[in-house]
Amino acid sequence: MQYGYQCEECEVAVWPAAPRAELQWLRQRTHVVREVAAHAGNGLDTWIVEGLEFLDHHAQHSIVLVRRS
Ligand SMILES: [Zn+2]
Repeated sequence: MQYGYQCEECEVAVWPAAPRAELQWLRQRTHVVREVAAHAGNGLDTWIVEGLEFLDHHAQHSIVLVRRS
């Protein structure tokens, strides 16, 4: 099972390599993670970078957690 974010308006999805709980955590704390990211340089996990990019890009849209098998 794989989990990801989907934008309901653009109908696109991203599938960062992280469990559901981690994706929920990232979505709820985007502003905190972004601040940490600004100081961490390139020390961030790929899934966080990937997830943040998507959340930023669709910040004004409705994003849901989705899964696929
Ligand atoms: Zn969107």
